[in-house]
Amino acid sequence: MAIVRSIPGTAEGRRRLALDSPVDRRPIDEIEVADAAEVAAVVAKARAAQPGWAARGVAERAAVLRSAVEVLVARREEIIDTVHAETGKPRVEALTMEIVAGCDFLNHWSARARRDLRPHRQRLHGYLLPLKKLYIDYQPLGVIGVITPWNGPFILSLNPVVQALLAGNSVVLKPSEVTPRSGEWVVRILREAGVPNDVVQVLHGDGETGAALVDAEIDKVCFTGSVGTGRKIAASCAQRLLPYTLELGGKDAMIVCADADLERAAAGAVYLSMFNTGQVCMSVERIYVVDSVADEFVRLVTEQAAAVTYGPGAADMGPLFWDRQLDVVTRHIEDAKAKGADIAVGGSPAAGNGLYFQPTVVVGATHEMRLMTEETFGPVVAITRVRDEDEAIRLANDSRYGLSGSVFTKDAAKARRIASRLVTGSVVHNDASVIYGVAEAPFGGRKESGVGQVNGTGALRGFTHPQPVLIDRWQTKKESVWYPYSEKTQRSLEAVVRYGFGTRLGRRFLS
Ligand code: NAD
Repeated sequence: MAIVRSIPGTAEGRRRLALDSPVDRRPIDEIEVADAAEVAAVVAKARAAQPGWAARGVAERAAVLRSAVEVLVARREEIIDTVHAETGKPRVEALTMEIVAGCDFLNHWSARARRDLRPHRQRLHGYLLPLKKLYIDYQPLGVIGVITPWNGPFILSLNPVVQALLAGNSVVLKPSEVTPRSGEWVVRILREAGVPNDVVQVLHGDGETGAALVDAEIDKVCFTGSVGTGRKIAASCAQRLLPYTLELGGKDAMIVCADADLERAAAGAVYLSMFNTGQVCMSVERIYVVDSVADEFVRLVTEQAAAVTYGPGAADMGPLFWDRQLDVVTRHIEDAKAKGADIAVGGSPAAGNGLYFQPTVVVGATHEMRLMTEETFGPVVAITRVRDEDEAIRLANDSRYGLSGSVFTKDAAKARRIASRLVTGSVVHNDASVIYGVAEAPFGGRKESGVGQVNGTGALRGFTHPQPVLIDRWQTKKESVWYPYSEKTQRSLEAVVRYGFGTRLGRRFLS
């Protein structure tokens, strides 16, 4: 469904979109675009259903969502069929990225929810300790709007939806119009597992529907998509002081050090640039290889990239999922050629009707080229030689994006040293995009790559309001600092400052 066309609307005046296959452009589906009135109605149902879902408690919600793993396992072939029809990605790629990761997230978050979301007592410090007790309750926010892109159409919808539900919210999902049915599967399996219909709902449509959802009576927006749309959403949320997370685009750099295992680095460079046809927000988009090993690295990459199979039915690589993406990739390669880069492999859209682009290796890329500065999102390995690791770090940081990055070296301590100098949301040693699948790792972009984080210990709690409740231990008639002020009040405060904060022992005691 990657090619989206407007078609005549319904008798009731609703807009409609037709969707054609990226493999062979045959028509495969149609959707009606939900307008602001339908969005408002769906959100109202979500709001009405939310208190009942929250009242079921975290253990019961977790049990329902845990049982969704079984539903996902049972339904996996149908989900893969849908993802494959909408994106053309090889079935094995749908299995890895959408199903295996989906099972893992569901299993992990539902197991963790009780621990991470249960109300708990927090020990107080210093002079407060004998006076008060502090409890933290994790209150659901209400209705969460989840808006998602087309590149990981099932998993990028499933992950935030599951977290928001576990936290006791109801959810309205607006998947990409490019891959609507893959997103819809998330709602189908969760309902089948027992989540009430009004607690998890799907709305189809394009940017109009997404914008209407942001403007509706929701309590948080969780958005994954492009920087341009992220900015619009942030602006709308700012008007209403609505909280949001934005998981946006990237231009991730891979640094190949002189001591890297070059076979692994070359295999990684090709796979991590081309997996999902290069349409992963943490795809390797730029490679900086240290001069002393660059010739051998380029030779190995060229050999491996030339062996990647692509085209309808090919084992390795599917088409681009969206016709406009084919234009972007083509423009970036033409620009690189015009500015003097060498095309070692591929370099053109493939012959035929589908949205295929040849697996491509570009050598001698520079920061004057769009290929090294704008998100390409295509099956392209773009290589730049650098003098040393310092130059690699400087160039890696020379980007308006800061999603993730990778360092290939045999020395793990060096990888950590380099990581500490990279201005990116995350860094991976001898690998790359796997980081999104590591549920324990707080994931999110810096600079224009996003605001906030999904995954990690704060993830489930990000869909709640952590409410501190301060309990009075002694229930005396009044606190010593309340009115009326007296000499005694003054003296006791002076004593806290002088003997507490004014001495080393006191500071230790009060910390
Ligand atoms: P997009 O911004 O065009 O669309 C994303 C979603 O937003 C779609 O559902 C779309 O219908 C909706 N939308 C469009 N206009 C809207 C508006 N004005 N208000 C509200 N919603 C609106 O992005 P895309 O092309 O679908 O996705 C690709 C982008 O997503 C790439 O830049 C990629 O890097 C990024 N991405 C980021 C992550 C991450 O975790 N950081 C993950 C995957 C993809």
